[in-house]
Amino acid sequence: MTEERKIKAERYERIRNLCFLSDQALLGLFLLLFLYGRKASLGLRLWRWTAELCNSNFWLSTLLFTFLFEAAYVILTLPYEYLKDYRVEMKFGLTNQTAFGWLKDFFKSSALSVALVMAAFLFCYAAMRYFGEWWFIFAAAGWIVLQIVLGMLFPVLILPLFYKSEELKEHPCREELLKLIERAGLKITGLYRLDMSEKTKKANAMLCGLGATRRIMLSDGLLEYLPEEIVAIMAHEIGHYKKRHIWKLAALHTILIFLGLFILSRILLWYCGLCGLELCEAGTLPVFVAVFSIWQLVTMPLTNGFSRRCEYEADLFALENADNLAFASALKRLAEENLAVMEVDRLIEIFLYSHPATGKRVAMAENYKARS
Ligand SMILES: [Zn+2]
Repeated sequence: MTEERKIKAERYERIRNLCFLSDQALLGLFLLLFLYGRKASLGLRLWRWTAELCNSNFWLSTLLFTFLFEAAYVILTLPYEYLKDYRVEMKFGLTNQTAFGWLKDFFKSSALSVALVMAAFLFCYAAMRYFGEWWFIFAAAGWIVLQIVLGMLFPVLILPLFYKSEELKEHPCREELLKLIERAGLKITGLYRLDMSEKTKKANAMLCGLGATRRIMLSDGLLEYLPEEIVAIMAHEIGHYKKRHIWKLAALHTILIFLGLFILSRILLWYCGLCGLELCEAGTLPVFVAVFSIWQLVTMPLTNGFSRRCEYEADLFALENADNLAFASALKRLAEENLAVMEVDRLIEIFLYSHPATGKRVAMAENYKARS
């Protein structure tokens, strides 16, 4: 990486870290806006108005209130998201999208997440209505089912909303990749080329889907790499499968979600007593979101630490099954294109990084043969 590119990557990193802080601050302010004033808070007034409008029909009022809450957040944060996700990427030369294209994707992803979140909240409040204070057990079970369904649908229904893909029928290293997959005993429906370059300059590879939809996707930018580099990156993805990382990560998240929902259930009971609400009234939604967001923040070092451990194991698998120097050069090329820094402050790595810093990964790859 040239000195100039290095400085640019460091500036980009600083801005991304600041964006993380402003994300939290904005969400905090938004929740405060809804919660401030206890019984006379905006959130409770809006809830009472919604319930009255829907003649206290549980299903309608819950859906409408969650929709208003989510839509308000999407609309209020749109200018910020535009600056963060489009202008910053544009400034650093990382996007190939037009502002209109970005806006289209923003509304598509927001509509999708609002719909999913509405369904999830409706499920939780219905569980509160029918199972009382034990609702969190049903909500955790619902969360597991949702993860499995989303995992299956992601490559066939969600990803196509944003990127085109097609089966990789011809490529210089197709045969070698298929051999590697077979040797690992990995069952997939196919190797796919993901057209990311019309939107971003960043390259990516992933193993996604579950069961009948499981596939390996390589971005078109990545397919321009040297064959041995592509094989090394694929070996890393296969490493995740061989070491059962998807299930291990899912198990960890399930335990944390269960604990988080349990804590939330106690806090909601307290809040309902304080404001004179029934447990199943969606007026508690801002508290629901606040507690859950704090829980996610608190557990981030643990989830990211576990994820970095998995990435380390997948790297090791790649080094054992592919050329170590090709893996090192692929990592450097990815860092260069994605404008990733080589060295990261340890505290920032602990909190925010799902992968070890690139410098560490490259050093491990370059020194691999020397150690074995
Ligand atoms: Zn990985």
